[in-house]
Amino acid sequence: MQVSRTIPNSIFRVASIPVILFLMLILQPSETAAQKRSTRLNAKPANTVEAAAMEFALTAEQVNELVGKKADVLTTTGKLEQNVEITRFFTGRNKGHVKSIEFKAENAKRGKRFFATKLVEMTVDEKKYQFQYIPSLKAALIENLDQKKAAITEKLRLSNEQFWEEIPEEEQNEHVEEYKTFLTKVGEHFSALNMKFYETKYFLFFTDMPAKQVAPYLIQLDKMNELLGRSFGFKPGYNIWRGKAVIVAFMGKPAFLEFEKKFYNRIETGNAIGLCHSHSNGKVIVSCYRGDDPNFFGAVLVHETAHGYMHRYRTTVSIPTWINEGIADWIAMTVVPSSKEVKYRQTEAAARLRQMQTFGGQFFNSDRLDSWQYGCASALIQLMLKASPEQFKLFFNGIKDGLTWQDSLLRAYGITVEQLSQAYGQSIGIPRLTP
Ligand SMILES: [Zn+2]
Repeated sequence: MQVSRTIPNSIFRVASIPVILFLMLILQPSETAAQKRSTRLNAKPANTVEAAAMEFALTAEQVNELVGKKADVLTTTGKLEQNVEITRFFTGRNKGHVKSIEFKAENAKRGKRFFATKLVEMTVDEKKYQFQYIPSLKAALIENLDQKKAAITEKLRLSNEQFWEEIPEEEQNEHVEEYKTFLTKVGEHFSALNMKFYETKYFLFFTDMPAKQVAPYLIQLDKMNELLGRSFGFKPGYNIWRGKAVIVAFMGKPAFLEFEKKFYNRIETGNAIGLCHSHSNGKVIVSCYRGDDPNFFGAVLVHETAHGYMHRYRTTVSIPTWINEGIADWIAMTVVPSSKEVKYRQTEAAARLRQMQTFGGQFFNSDRLDSWQYGCASALIQLMLKASPEQFKLFFNGIKDGLTWQDSLLRAYGITVEQLSQAYGQSIGIPRLTP
């Protein structure tokens, strides 16, 4: 949810360089369960990301056994190298630490060498493997993805959660048709508005806005899709949505309110100018209205759609509110820099905290944030991402894989919520900020 407000001109830097260094210092790894396990396996992970990746990593011997086999390999550009022979691994002193791989296509005379950073996944003998690049090793570990998935599935079952299923192409098309039927009904209900469809690879956009105003928003949504995929670790080109994400965007507020009432039976929308309806079957419908601030609307659109993306990412596990809202505002600020709303919220939040010296005990566990708290949420997410995108990826995926966010924070960054608060406090001049 977003609340509209006027935006003063303010220049506010969330994390200066010394602050990032401080965060890195206090974000030093502590010994986690994962580390203890892999220590027993005679490995010595230098940090928590490494330790977590080692849980399902192939041993040097297992890596070597893959030489000579045929593989389908997905690269970070989204290209699939099909049925290529693995001819050689270039490794560090530890033969399980893969720096690059040589593949040979069927009729090629010579092999092609790929750096581990350029690889996402591969399938060999119908088994799936994932390349986990570990910056401190300057090499990738190859994870047994099937084994990892089985372990997570088992864990999620205990809390009635599961991986979202891969949807076959023809079923995806059926979902899109289902949405179009729904949108046709919406169009009939608002026949005076003469609403039109705009369809992209990932989105169905239905609106009464003039065509030339729609184009930039579609570009921003695609950007969001791509950037979140990269931040969380989804393979490129993957369609996360059930069919596509549906956006119903009105010019004016009355139509938005009428849509919510008629199609979602919702009368109370507060100050929202956009809402994300994340259905348990995976359907995502965002409704919103443009009003008279096109930049702010762009940010709201990205914010709300990001909620849908997080709903659809990987598993059905829901993301705690401060993280969910923090990521949604961070991505809105990143993709729509012309809107200063999120930066303003961060400044306002910092000012409040300077008076209070504490988050007040509720922030991290509340289902709803007060409007000023959105600024803390996005600033915290921004700080964590700046400290290390790799650790952030591990943090987010840990929650989606069934860890509590506190455990996931400890595993990925080696810190507690008190230490996280302190690091954020440092960045805004409150050294003893408490949760
Ligand atoms: Zn929100």
